[in-house]
Amino acid sequence: MSGSAHSTVLSGARVVLPTGTVAGGRVIVDGDRIAGSAHDATTTVDLTGHWIVPGFVDMHNHGGGGASFTSGTAEDVLKGVRTHREHGTTTLVASTVTGDLDELARRAALLAELTQQGEIAGIHFEGPFINPCRKGAHKEDLLRDPDPAEVRKLIDAAHGAARMFTLATELPGGLDSVRLLAEHGVIAAIGHTDATYEQTRAAIDAGATVATHLFNAMPPLAHREPGPIAALLEDERITVELINDGTHLHPAALELAFHHAGAHRVALITDAMDAAGFGDGTYHLGPLEVEVKHGVARLVEGGSIAGSTLTLDTAFKRSVTLDKLPVESVVQAISANPAKLIGLYDEIGSLEPGKYADLVVLDAAFDVKGVMRRGEWIVSPAARPAI
Ligand SMILES: [Zn+2]
Repeated sequence: MSGSAHSTVLSGARVVLPTGTVAGGRVIVDGDRIAGSAHDATTTVDLTGHWIVPGFVDMHNHGGGGASFTSGTAEDVLKGVRTHREHGTTTLVASTVTGDLDELARRAALLAELTQQGEIAGIHFEGPFINPCRKGAHKEDLLRDPDPAEVRKLIDAAHGAARMFTLATELPGGLDSVRLLAEHGVIAAIGHTDATYEQTRAAIDAGATVATHLFNAMPPLAHREPGPIAALLEDERITVELINDGTHLHPAALELAFHHAGAHRVALITDAMDAAGFGDGTYHLGPLEVEVKHGVARLVEGGSIAGSTLTLDTAFKRSVTLDKLPVESVVQAISANPAKLIGLYDEIGSLEPGKYADLVVLDAAFDVKGVMRRGEWIVSPAARPAI
């Protein structure tokens, strides 16, 4: 396909563009890119009654399809990546969990290679620089205060693939680490934190730009102690991650965040672990054992929520059908915003000529009927395999 003078025209659908939704619009695919006009030789795919939206971008994801990004081989990582692609996620940043520093550096080297191959879009280090009292599913004896030298070690180990670090910025060394990350063009994300409102503001002033799964693993909003949630929601410099799986957040909390921050400052993420797109059972999240029951992942010891089993197609559908958010807002939060944050909006994150042909075809009920990545169907709208 690629390189030949042949275009594929996807026609008849409602196409969600950055400027709004076009009814009966068309998307022209030429090789691996979206084109402004079609060649003479074209194949037309009639998608009347469907939506075409940009491929989803997940900037916080630990695994899926029974495979983990935090352990195992490169092939295991690819298995997880492929599972999420079938659910519409055409770009994914692989997240680690707290581990021994040398072990994390080795993991970073493996994930860096997959980044260079274009299979993943970089690495998010979640831990070990987080607060023990908001540790969630991270192993306590491996947690450490943020140390710029150690942050630097992991950035170096990632060979240019480090995209984001989740830090408890109130800990000693936290603000210096945020400054170091900002200098290196790596996102400093505030999370697994026990910071006060004032401490959170200081971290934002130091250069933090993301709230790691807002509401989860941080103090709640209280009237005299508004804490990190108020500071993160009110500041235009911050994008807030939200996990819309029906378990991590009450619908009203999700709505509050969308309403207060605005759709341009929300990133829908999965925080998925191995069981996403796979099934219930016993798994591991880094060194810790996790039991997944009815799609909810919890640590065997202590019962903390341990990531999700969410895929972004489900997050999309929930956001539109249950939370009644406008499709355009959800597209912004699930594709454009994360693409901008990880520095890839020139290539992905919206349906515009010149960008990669990464897109998702949804039916009227917002179920996935097609997924195209780099101009090739991962899931063909003609014959969608049962998942
Ligand atoms: Zn996570």
